[in-house]
Formats: sequence, C-alpha cells, structure tokens
Amino acid sequence: MSILANYSTRLFLFCFLLAGIPTIWPSQARAEWYKDEQAIMGTVVRVELWAEDPDKAQKAIQAVMDEMRHIDDTMSPYKPESELSRINQKAADEKLVISKELFGLIRTSLKFSELTHGAFDITFASVGRFYDFRKHLRPNAEEIKANLPKISYRHVILDDAHKTIHFSMEGVYIDLGGIAKGYAVDRSIALLQSLGIKHAIVTAGGDSRIIGDRMGRPWMVGIRDPRKSGAVSGVIPLTDSALSTSGDYERYFIEDGKHYHHILNPGTGDSARELRSVSVLGPDATTTDALSTSIFVLGLAKGMALVETLPDIETIIIDQAGKMHYSSGLLSTPERSSDTAKNINNN
Ligand code: ADP
Ligand code: MG
Repeated sequence: MSILANYSTRLFLFCFLLAGIPTIWPSQARAEWYKDEQAIMGTVVRVELWAEDPDKAQKAIQAVMDEMRHIDDTMSPYKPESELSRINQKAADEKLVISKELFGLIRTSLKFSELTHGAFDITFASVGRFYDFRKHLRPNAEEIKANLPKISYRHVILDDAHKTIHFSMEGVYIDLGGIAKGYAVDRSIALLQSLGIKHAIVTAGGDSRIIGDRMGRPWMVGIRDPRKSGAVSGVIPLTDSALSTSGDYERYFIEDGKHYHHILNPGTGDSARELRSVSVLGPDATTTDALSTSIFVLGLAKGMALVETLPDIETIIIDQAGKMHYSSGLLSTPERSSDTAKNINNN
C-alpha cells in the first residue's frame, strides 16, 4: 500500500488543538496488548504490541530493548568506549575499519547531507561538542570560528569495499543524534516483524514507527505543542508508517533572551531558529528522523520545497509564530490522494 493511502486522515483530523491529550493515546485495557517503557539512548523507548500470549510478547519486547541498548552502546558519543567515540578519537590519524552496521548508517547520513545540501551533517559535532544544554554551555565566537571549517560531511571519507572511515582533517567530530533513534526504531520494527508481530508501535523520543493498525483503527500519534508542555498541536491517525518530530524544546537554554538548542545550522555553528517544530511522515523512521532534523535547519520555504520533491514524504511545520504549515499531500482531497497514490504505486 502506498504511504499516502495511510494519511487517509486529512487536515481536519489533526488541526484541532487538544490540550492535555498525551502524545500517544493510551491503550484500552485489553489483555492482548502488551507494553513497556524504558529509558535508553537518553530518551524514553516505548513498545506496544499485540500478541497472542504473554511469553511471545515478553520475548518481542525484550528483543527491542536489547537492540536499542546495542545501538546506544555502539553509537553514543557520550560513552567513551563506544565505536563512534573510537572513530572520533582516531579517524583523523588513520583509516579505521568499522562495523558494517555503523558504516551503513554513516553512509546513509552522507546521502542525507547530499540530498539536503549540507543542512543535515553529522560533522555538526565539530562545533556541537562545545555545547552542553544541561550546563548552559555554548562555544564562544573564537571557538566557533576555529572549528566551523571542520564541519563538512565531505571530511568523512568512506571506503565501501574495505568498510573503513577516515577524516580528512584534525578536529572533525561526528554525532548520529539526528538519525540514530530513527534507525533504532526501524531495526526494532524489523525484529518484531521477524517474530511474527503484526500490530505494534515503537517510539524512541520523537521517532515512532507503526506496524499494521490498532485492530481496525489507526494508531493516533500526537504532535507535541512546542510551547505548552503536556499539550499537543494535533493528532495524526497512522498505519504502517513512521513519524518523527524535531523541536527546539527538547534540549535548550535561554541566554540574554536567545534560545540555544540542540539542532545546529552547519553553516554557522549556531542553533537553527526559523522554526519551532518539524514533523515528518514517511515509510521508515531513519528517513523521517534525518528529514525532520534537516527541514528544521532548512527552514519553511526550503524545507517545504524539498518535501514536495519526495513522493512518499509529508511534513507539518510549526513556525515561530505558532502557525502550522502542511505539505500538499496532507492538504489534498481524498480523490486526489488516491490518484497520487496510484501514480506512486505505478512508479
Ligand atoms: P531529538 O534527538 O530530540 O529526537 P532530532 O531528531 O531533531 O531530535 O535530532 C537532534 C539531534 O540531531 C541533536 O541532538 C544532534 O545530536 C543532531 N544534530 C543537530 N544538528 C544537526 C545537523 N545539522 N545535522 C545532523 N544532525 C544534527
Ligand atoms: Mg531527527
């Protein structure tokens, strides 16, 4: 089924403001649904699935949590012994052979850098590592000036045949924070599918992906109100698709009236400030995660223009005035949507 058919939703379904509705609608207390929530990857990982018996459910949920922990152990920039940290310590000095999995996600990240003309760039960390949002720390002007030339995905040299990575410059750092959670959600969904699970949602922070429906109904996934904690700006009914949201409210501090937050413009080393929140719908969470971060950096006009070139991607953007903007696939009539879906399926 085309992804657009899943947005059978339409604008009127999600443009109402419902203060107080939780991000994911709570499940009814049915014995067949099992859920668990754990703190992994610096965020909340949530799994909810339908299974015939508790043993099967337990096994599936455990597999997801183990996978999330494995990805965190490999890709966390905060764990000095992670594979990613080893790259940051050594890749400027030597070509490093790395795991196929990490190599693959870095390769994917570079593709998103090309697609977004550098708005998505994992070497943002060359300056990003000087920020600490909990401690309210940010780089000073000299630190930004000295390290800005080290931000460029072109500094990351990958050798596909030998699975090696090399940085072309000293002081280059990478961080997969804009894509790894989406990737972890996709891996989890693949695991659940391999275990025969037909109805599930996996969420890691702002990234969710769904298998199937909620027994005849779509899953209702909320978009958080970027300025009102606990409120949502809209609710989207979804089946068999992914949704990621990037916002300026996740990790931030305010200094002299200026909002410093965790999504950086690779061109300036400063936080991207045109938007408050970007949600992206698409077939997989790796894509929606990378694109929500990218569009946040690109801003409304360029971000929307990019989405309109991508056939199976839709977006909801909230600007600094709190106004919501929708890509054309979400605004179209049901008739037009099914035509579009037919066209996509024919491609
Ligand atoms: P969250 O991590 O809160 O779910 P996002 O998916 O938007 O939100 O990712 C934000 C993270 O992306 C940042 O914490 C940082 O690790 C990383 N990041 C920040 N700026 C960029 C950028 N320009 N390109 C790629 N990754 C980025
Ligand atoms: Mg993201």
